Amino acid sequence: MAKSENKCSFCGRPESSTGLLLQGINGMICENCTEQASEVFKEERYHRPSQEFLLDIKKPHEINEYLNQYVIGQDDAKKVLSVAVYNHYKRLQYVLTKKKNDSEIEIEKSNIIIVGETGTGKTLLARTIAKMLNVPFCIADATVLTEAGYVGEDVETILTRLLQAADYNVQAAERGIVFIDEIDKIARKSDNPSITRDVSGEGVQQALLKLLEGAIVNVPPQGGRKHPEQKFTAINTQNILFISGGAFDGIERHIASRMKTNAIGFKGNDSKHHYLDKGNLLQYIAPQDLKKFGLIPELVGRFPVLTHLNPLDKDTLRLILTEPKNALVKQYQKLFEMDEIQLSFEEAALDFIVEKAVEFKLGARGLRSIMETIMMDAMFDIPQKKTAMSKLRITKKFAEEKINKSVLKRLQNM
Ligand code: ADP
Repeated sequence: MAKSENKCSFCGRPESSTGLLLQGINGMICENCTEQASEVFKEERYHRPSQEFLLDIKKPHEINEYLNQYVIGQDDAKKVLSVAVYNHYKRLQYVLTKKKNDSEIEIEKSNIIIVGETGTGKTLLARTIAKMLNVPFCIADATVLTEAGYVGEDVETILTRLLQAADYNVQAAERGIVFIDEIDKIARKSDNPSITRDVSGEGVQQALLKLLEGAIVNVPPQGGRKHPEQKFTAINTQNILFISGGAFDGIERHIASRMKTNAIGFKGNDSKHHYLDKGNLLQYIAPQDLKKFGLIPELVGRFPVLTHLNPLDKDTLRLILTEPKNALVKQYQKLFEMDEIQLSFEEAALDFIVEKAVEFKLGARGLRSIMETIMMDAMFDIPQKKTAMSKLRITKKFAEEKINKSVLKRLQNM
């Protein structure tokens, strides 16, 4: 008797017409049926009522405390973010629980811009919030975006990331938070000749407006333009909170010139202008400075909350080494602990690392590369010798030797 052909247990079609069949315990499934099943699951997820995430709303002080465990200093920004995230939840609660004729009041969302030098903690803040939150979160890079039709990514792909972070649950994505990094890089290039289209600057800003103000946006679920056959997913951005960050190099110039003009206007009465902290002008940043820098007024208007990060001084860098929950020193101690070696650092060695980070102008990001340079040989050799040693203390002398040995040049060129 001829062997009977394998069949899909769902549609019954034979292997000769379905192609590959996946074997389960008691049956088989064809590609077509797996796709249909996936659609059904997606549909089901979309309609599932999901308000449980609102049960555990953290208060601003709690959010702030959480941030304190990971981010040193930056108190102004932490406060602003804590309030914004809390309000985001409250607003969602309001929207989701509002009955039809309840109230005419519309609570508008408060998208945020964080301005601060590179390496001062913008992404860290965003990531830390993500860790704490109960809503989908993604980070998008503004530098890769271009106006639709040009080489680069369309702004809609930002929402693709969010959709992916939400595991393709559209309803969850629609209440998520998006961090757009390097927003300053899409500033209008003022010396752009008018015949050249500003496709990666003003063009992107214009395209972003639609996302920020709250619209139904058709999103390619696989992202990019590589899958032209994919079906778009409609996402309503009305309840998505956008946080953006940028270094805005040189914006101090605009702040200084505005403050000077203002100071003349208020001369005598306004004491605060007499104590201008010229070393940190970012703290006085205002929306008009962003416009002067090259963000279009409509875009600035859609980010009603503006906050700044302070440059990191020596003391802050020193704290960053040891204090945060996942501080560098703690990370290396953990790594060595796994080889049963107790790692410790001389205070002077830590001071030395900070000095080098300042000297090489590497900021907080440089702490890691300096640390890595100092620890490299030990990490290479010690696992081999672990029976001979159970403790390793990094002294200033040891750190100096490692830094002076070879990598100084590499660090200076970074
Ligand atoms: P930015 O996004 O502002 O360029 P990041 O958030 O990526 O900077 O910071 C770079 C690294 O420096 C982070 O991974 C973090 O380890 C460290 N760092 C920066 N600022 C702080 C801070 N205020 N507190 C703790 N660590 C920080």
